[in-house]
Amino acid sequence: MPLPLRYRIAPLDVHAHLIDVSCTVEVPDAAGQCFTLPAWTPGSYLLREFARHVVRIGARNAQGAVPLEKVGKARWRAAPCAGPLEVVAEIYAYDVSVRTAYADATRVYFNGTSAFLRPEGHEQAPCILDIDASFAASIEGARVATAMRRDGAAPWGFGRYAADSYEELVDHPVEIGRFDLTSFEAGGVTHDVAIAGARDVDLDRLARDLARVCQWHCDLFAGAPNGRAPFDRYLFLVLAVGDGYGGLEHRASTSLVCKRDELPRIGDPGLDDGYVTFLGLASHEYFHAWNVKRIKPSAFTPYDLSQEGFTRLLWAFEGITSYYDDLSLARSGVVPAERVLELLARTLTTVLRTPGRHLQSVADASFDAWIKFYRPDENSPNAGVSYYAKGAIVALALDLTLRHHGRSLDDLMRALWTRHGATGVGVDEDAIEALASSLAGHDLRDFFARYVEGTEDPPLAALLADVGVELALRPREGMRDRGGKPATAAPAATTLGAQWPTSGELRLTTVYREGPAARAGLSAHDVVVAIDGIRATSDLLAAALVRATPGSRMIVDAFRRDVLMRFDVELAAAPADTAVMTMLGEPGEAMAARRRAWLGA
Ligand SMILES: [Zn+2]
Repeated sequence: MPLPLRYRIAPLDVHAHLIDVSCTVEVPDAAGQCFTLPAWTPGSYLLREFARHVVRIGARNAQGAVPLEKVGKARWRAAPCAGPLEVVAEIYAYDVSVRTAYADATRVYFNGTSAFLRPEGHEQAPCILDIDASFAASIEGARVATAMRRDGAAPWGFGRYAADSYEELVDHPVEIGRFDLTSFEAGGVTHDVAIAGARDVDLDRLARDLARVCQWHCDLFAGAPNGRAPFDRYLFLVLAVGDGYGGLEHRASTSLVCKRDELPRIGDPGLDDGYVTFLGLASHEYFHAWNVKRIKPSAFTPYDLSQEGFTRLLWAFEGITSYYDDLSLARSGVVPAERVLELLARTLTTVLRTPGRHLQSVADASFDAWIKFYRPDENSPNAGVSYYAKGAIVALALDLTLRHHGRSLDDLMRALWTRHGATGVGVDEDAIEALASSLAGHDLRDFFARYVEGTEDPPLAALLADVGVELALRPREGMRDRGGKPATAAPAATTLGAQWPTSGELRLTTVYREGPAARAGLSAHDVVVAIDGIRATSDLLAAALVRATPGSRMIVDAFRRDVLMRFDVELAAAPADTAVMTMLGEPGEAMAARRRAWLGA
């Protein structure tokens, strides 16, 4: 057994968002020990160059300071010396997202990828982490929440934690601060929920609902009822903020950022869109505990955190997960099936409003995540497609196609689990297609060529009709209309072919290629100030598009940077790009059974 690497984290100046992190190697490399900091964190496919937040760094051993030379953008080499060798880094942490690290007088949060140096050549060494008790002096009432194994620390306490390897060490994010706790059992293990930043949350209801969703996931992979979870415990780390959304998956925990008003309040039994959004996010990250944390692409087996890990399969790891995050809410009975159809229709609407889906396949979008998905700009909807949204739609189409052949995506996920998740064998780039075909007993090459590697839209109307659901498409009703619901007012007869905010300055966020605005010369970032000589507002523009007829003209005055320009726009008929899915009233016995099997309703 190699000697453990010893890590210690302590506050330096939380008001200045500085933390102190040290790493001690008992027997350093005789040629000079090298240390690196990851460039990215698993689950978020962008090189974030965490080394840029290292403010100061130094090395020492029992004899005193040891020279430490920077030899790469995220790599340092200590001069040859006797052990133990300790490197201490001062790290700036002030990002409220789930991906990096944060420190102030109210809380400290970190992912190990932002904090812990990795000594090269010690990959097999276990790790010990000491979370210094001096945090308690910096943050009033602070406790510690992490899924890392306690190794002397009291529950929720400061002190010693342990991980079997560096890869495990950086896969347990840590929250230090004040939080509310609730817990529940699912999959035969305890699940804790630590919520920071919110008050008056209905913790009992939250635990009850999450327990049903989590047990459903366990049952999917391990067989109902009482399917076992593939971990010993699980922790939801929730940060509630005024406005924010995000999640990152880990092997035995997840970090979530949500809006405060998305959490259920005591005394309010309602199921509003906000709470459904929160449940969908929690469900998404939990599903990842199987799909991507254990069933992994070969490209991530093991992770190389120093450079990009290219795979054409993110559509499966994120898209299938996005499909199940909402579907599981219906299948577990926590959210009515009609609401889940609404969510699926919204996802489809997002895809239909993305002209770039005709140019970029979900497989290409997966490969290019590193330079495109995480770095969107005003042209992104014209040039590409999200492997989350289109991936979820492909997953839906694949599920319904497999069901047509007497199997389902559930069977495919279980087969992936058996072959790859339970064994740790990576998923090769062509494995999902091969496995789906063999399960279906039918060559699905054509499906994958068209909808995964190609840019065609799957034939969802026909596939949904097979399970007793009608898909209708209609024009949108203003910028707030995300789809999923039948038309309420008169839909717009015409379109400008652009996207703009629903309030405030009318700055075009996207101008769709070959649309009316683009043809007239308007561009993203142009600020529209007048329409037909009248001062422009979002509502005025929406109303004008309802009244106008296709082919009529609109004079648009807009600032491009500081230059006032005039555009003569010929309006086009509004496209039917807004999806609505409804259950057929009298589906017949066989169809009703297929719908029940799919939707659980
Ligand atoms: Zn995800």
